Amino acid sequence: MERVRDVRLLPKAHLHLHFTGSMRPTTLLELADKYGVHLPEALTGGEPPKLRATDERGWFRFQRLYDMARSCLREPEDIQRLVREAAQEDLADGSGWLEIQVDPTSYAPRLGGLIPALEIILDAVDTASRETGLGMRVLVAANRMKHPLDARTLARLAVRYADRGIVGFGLSNDERRGMARDFDRAFAIAREGGLLAAPHGGELTGPSSVRDCLDDLHAARIGHGVRAAEDPRLLKRLADKGVTCEVCPSSNVALGVYEKPEDVPLRTLFEAGVPMALGADDPLLFGSRLAAQYELAREYHGFTDAELAELARQSVRASAAPEDVREKLLADVDAWLAS
Ligand SMILES: [Zn+2]
Repeated sequence: MERVRDVRLLPKAHLHLHFTGSMRPTTLLELADKYGVHLPEALTGGEPPKLRATDERGWFRFQRLYDMARSCLREPEDIQRLVREAAQEDLADGSGWLEIQVDPTSYAPRLGGLIPALEIILDAVDTASRETGLGMRVLVAANRMKHPLDARTLARLAVRYADRGIVGFGLSNDERRGMARDFDRAFAIAREGGLLAAPHGGELTGPSSVRDCLDDLHAARIGHGVRAAEDPRLLKRLADKGVTCEVCPSSNVALGVYEKPEDVPLRTLFEAGVPMALGADDPLLFGSRLAAQYELAREYHGFTDAELAELARQSVRASAAPEDVREKLLADVDAWLAS
């Protein structure tokens, strides 16, 4: 019988985690109390809210809950706490490298403007990284519901702050709105500035949105990308180019992209040779963190420990971690498997 190792001890990189979405539910309650914010029951029930984002109304509800939670982050100390706790949670789940994703625009009104907001966030990441020992970097993500010119401004800002810990540029929110192509200039600015292109695609819409991310935005990684499983040629293209999909199984089930955990096409992507980096997306709203994604692969898709180790290696290889960090993590993955 195969030995079953603790996936929380498996070293891995976490490449798909949103800023407010990383918050501990208990912290949200405390912050809401601090500022007298009345949270909807969906955020206070102790259980993740029931969501269904496969239609626009469901997506809107998800975004509204996210906005409510974000409205409880008002002072630099709240940001510092959020990031420190995200790092602590990640470490407890075996993460050896965390790339957290944020659109600073949405924090700007409460933190004194776009640049102060970004600086507060980068300082918090730097401090949390030093205090916890977890390597952390930032992806700045534009919002596809906003104007492409806003995305360009953000891309320029992200490039300007690259030496302060920004490694990539993303694009999030409702894939059904706007074309990837509208954001091509923003992504060109980011890529020319040395940032990794990691837009969301292939979550709410099918394989064509993944193709758009490759063709129009020259994505090096795809946020989600799971719907590529519906197109074998696209899978081959992702595998040949070594484009990593940041797959978030719990999120997919919570948002109704797939009905059940066993429906998330982890096996299809894995067998096709598409590199994956499992991620938690928004643990605050979906109720599970990083290690749980690996548990899900084991429990519902029969991933052996050797296969889980390979998933962990894929996450490390797709990360923006410096070479020495990658080597150490890869060696630790081997040690986990040998244990
Ligand atoms: Zn996401």
